[in-house]
Amino acid sequence: MHGLSVDVEDWFQVWAYRHQIPRGNWDDYPLRVEDSTQRLLDLFAEKRVTATFFTLGWIAERCPGLVKSIAAAGHEVASHGYDHTKVFDQDEATFRQDVLKTKAILEDLSGMPVTGYRAAGFSIDHRTPFAHGVLAETGHHYSSSTHPIAHDHYGDPEGLLDPYEAVPGLTEVPVGVVQAFGRRISCAGGGWFRAMPYGLSRTLWRRLEKEGRRGIFYLHPWEVDPAQPAVPGASFKSAFRHRLNLQHMEGKLSRLLDDFRWGRIDEVVSDALEGESMRSGEAA
Ligand SMILES: [Zn+2]
Repeated sequence: MHGLSVDVEDWFQVWAYRHQIPRGNWDDYPLRVEDSTQRLLDLFAEKRVTATFFTLGWIAERCPGLVKSIAAAGHEVASHGYDHTKVFDQDEATFRQDVLKTKAILEDLSGMPVTGYRAAGFSIDHRTPFAHGVLAETGHHYSSSTHPIAHDHYGDPEGLLDPYEAVPGLTEVPVGVVQAFGRRISCAGGGWFRAMPYGLSRTLWRRLEKEGRRGIFYLHPWEVDPAQPAVPGASFKSAFRHRLNLQHMEGKLSRLLDDFRWGRIDEVVSDALEGESMRSGEAA
């Protein structure tokens, strides 16, 4: 089983529009996240899959019913931080406050412990040596905050491809990357998945399975919302990447859900840890 995840943030909260729609202006824009997330909840129900929803504290405060619906449908509610500030733009004390505040908001609404975390923009790397320790101290069990590829905005081309214990009690679960054609290729989702023909994504996931690995896939609710407003003043490159193939996303996602087995990341992590202890038991 692979891990399916949704980063619950709205269309105007993305890095691509950071200059046109700064953090302080977010309240001026209409929320579309409830409707777009509901479309994903409907699709997941139809396909009988559960997933992990990494949710911004900022969204949870404005859409409490959404968090409750996610939890009620059997999905994992996890943390995407409070307001999408990258971890490497925070110091240790600010980061601790951010994750504690977000965890409290999400636990209050979902009525369940929040043990998973995903950094905005995969921003846990060599600049954030405190991050995993703080997550473990604040009651998180795993983080899915690394994208081990070369990319202009994020990613660590030398990062580990498979889950590993980052600090005692906390597993880092990188999103899906395979080694193919002599290089690392992301099959993790987001813009990569929208840009590739579906057949190539399927080939990459099959390859990952053949290697006996489990992968993590991610997407955003705004990726199934082709009717979202265009943002005047955004650079061509940012707008192109943000809007590329939005109209095909739901169909491709539906095929991916049919072709592989998916579940919540907390379950993938506990399965992986169990497998590991069984293997070390066998070795002993
Ligand atoms: Zn995000």
